[in-house]
Amino acid sequence: MRRAFIAGNWKMYKTPTEAKAFARELRSALADVKDRDILVGVSFVNIAGVVEELKGSQIWVAAQNMYYEKEGAFTGEVSPVQLKDAGVTHVILGHSERRHIFGETDEMINKKVRAALDHGLLPILCVGELLEEREKGETEKVCKHQVVEAYKGLSREEALKVTIAYEPVWAIGTGKTATPEDANQVHAFIRKVLAELYDQDVAEKTCIQYGGSVKPENIDALMAQEHIDGALVGGASLKLDSFVRIVRFQ
Ligand code: PGA
Repeated sequence: MRRAFIAGNWKMYKTPTEAKAFARELRSALADVKDRDILVGVSFVNIAGVVEELKGSQIWVAAQNMYYEKEGAFTGEVSPVQLKDAGVTHVILGHSERRHIFGETDEMINKKVRAALDHGLLPILCVGELLEEREKGETEKVCKHQVVEAYKGLSREEALKVTIAYEPVWAIGTGKTATPEDANQVHAFIRKVLAELYDQDVAEKTCIQYGGSVKPENIDALMAQEHIDGALVGGASLKLDSFVRIVRFQ
């Protein structure tokens, strides 16, 4: 019932020239893949070129962050209205690098989710625990808190537009992946939280991606899990062969 959704997060990699060339290659390598959703999350300066290269294809383009105001004196920030006009469909929000390097709080992330929905962008909300939180047995507590805070004030219809990416922070860029079974358990728990916040239907319809050292070698086992509906892929999304193989998971 849930459609698979594979997203690449290019982070702060690729120049505009490189990003355009890569998008062109990706488009032709994935032209026949229609039974799953595909997205690339790119730096602000790469949006225009990548949107142009992917126009008319089935690959969506996301921003990796945004500010929550529509416009104003916010030097250095980018608004949802600007992103929408630039041709972006989705925005990655609350990535652990935003939370832990740039100090984004749950309150800010909630405002960003709100603003994305108000301006017709689809949020990919990242949640996940730190290693020390996992070791203290706080994984569920942390994920629940992050989900509850981010969804504050969202109607049921709005909630249905959000994709969640569960990314245990200790698995991001480290080569360590949660086992498919461990990840599946957290995904099932997040679904339970959504059922409590809304209802069973929202819980069952919400796409929950896994992120954290996803690679060609582990994607099939991850996607075989009941509650894992897709992946948010960092490092392995930067190389054509590996991202194509991940999108073509079996
Ligand atoms: P990784 O990053 O695949 O390089 O671990 C995932 C992410 O941060 O979204």
